[in-house]
Amino acid sequence: MLTAHLPSGYVLAQGARWDIPMLLPAALIGAVFPDLDMIWFYLVDDRAIHHHRYWVHIPLFWMMVGAVVLPGLALFARRWLATGLVFLVAIFLHLLLDTIGGGIMWAAPFEDHLYSMVTVPPTQAHWVASFVLHWTFLLEIAVWGTAVLLWRKRRDL
Ligand SMILES: [Zn+2]
Repeated sequence: MLTAHLPSGYVLAQGARWDIPMLLPAALIGAVFPDLDMIWFYLVDDRAIHHHRYWVHIPLFWMMVGAVVLPGLALFARRWLATGLVFLVAIFLHLLLDTIGGGIMWAAPFEDHLYSMVTVPPTQAHWVASFVLHWTFLLEIAVWGTAVLLWRKRRDL
């Protein structure tokens, strides 16, 4: 997914029906957090391997983080438990959206296959153009459209 991670976090936050502290920041940051690995990908790793192979795009890593952090919050900072859960849900939303056309190593570390629902063929000279001109980009537009509609609806209340 190229552009719709941030609006997907907004849609997630708007879908929550409970009063959760820092709900919107948790959802927005979680929805984009795995792609912070692009800094390492471009500035350090010189694009040596697909950034979806870094630990921040590995589902098992986040399951382990959740297994440690969520019980810790429940025991010592219960007020922030729902916020932490929203952050992790947003992370997994990111991974699900990346699975549509990008590929995620859902079985890592047991295998290194990038699971993807759809293969976006390199039909254009630049990979970004191939993604933008592929039908899956309509899903990104739908996420943006949903976020804008929710934002307008909330603004009009
Ligand atoms: Zn990503």
